[in-house]
Amino acid sequence: MSTLLARVFDPSKEEWRKRAACREMEPDLFFPIGTTGPALIQIEESKRICAICEVRAECLEFALATNQESGVWGGTSEEERKILRKKWLAGRLDPAKIAELSVY
Ligand code: SF4
Repeated sequence: MSTLLARVFDPSKEEWRKRAACREMEPDLFFPIGTTGPALIQIEESKRICAICEVRAECLEFALATNQESGVWGGTSEEERKILRKKWLAGRLDPAKIAELSVY
């Protein structure tokens, strides 16, 4: 296992999921079909929930590390994560810093 994956899948660090603001919500909200039309409203709604989530940085780092291509993770859309992931892989992005920013 690579160092990156070892860090991400460390069971002691998986507890962030228990504190997720979306934990009791309908998962479909965070996985809209498409990126246009009604899906845009769904994306914005899910991002509003992410904005108040205390584990946004952990969620975003998990999504970047595991290359989650679908859905909203850590307050970012699929398209936003494609850009962020390139920077993250190059070591030019700290998920904690991104989570402090309003990306929507
Ligand atoms: S940042 Fe958003 S998607 Fe991630 S755990 Fe929090 S509410 Fe869920």
